[in-house]
Amino acid sequence: MVEKILVVDDQMGVRRLLYEAFKEEGYEVEMAASGLEAIETVKKSIPSIILMDMKMPGMNGLEALKEIKKLDQEIAVIMMTAYGELEIVAQAMKLGVKEYITKPFDLNELKQLVKRILAVI
Ligand SMILES: [Mg+2]
Repeated sequence: MVEKILVVDDQMGVRRLLYEAFKEEGYEVEMAASGLEAIETVKKSIPSIILMDMKMPGMNGLEALKEIKKLDQEIAVIMMTAYGELEIVAQAMKLGVKEYITKPFDLNELKQLVKRILAVI
């Protein structure tokens, strides 16, 4: 079975970069440009893992995460934060999100992280 990754980011450049990178790795990749879109996507079909931007206009990543956790408590999530967003990271960890990367991130590092998480779920 092909693992499905959901990329959530308000910046098109980031979505495109991650789409290309993970397609190349053989994953199925879905994209959402907002928290609301992410929730709708998860409602339709639960991805194996979510790469979630924290800073987005409207519903931010943390708020989207709370709703998504109601749909699937065990869903794997990697937060994408900016440098210094420690308060957001702390709050997301309370919601059970253990992994995060700081933007600008190293693509290979992110690929390894995704692989490592998918190997244990
Ligand atoms: Mg953003």
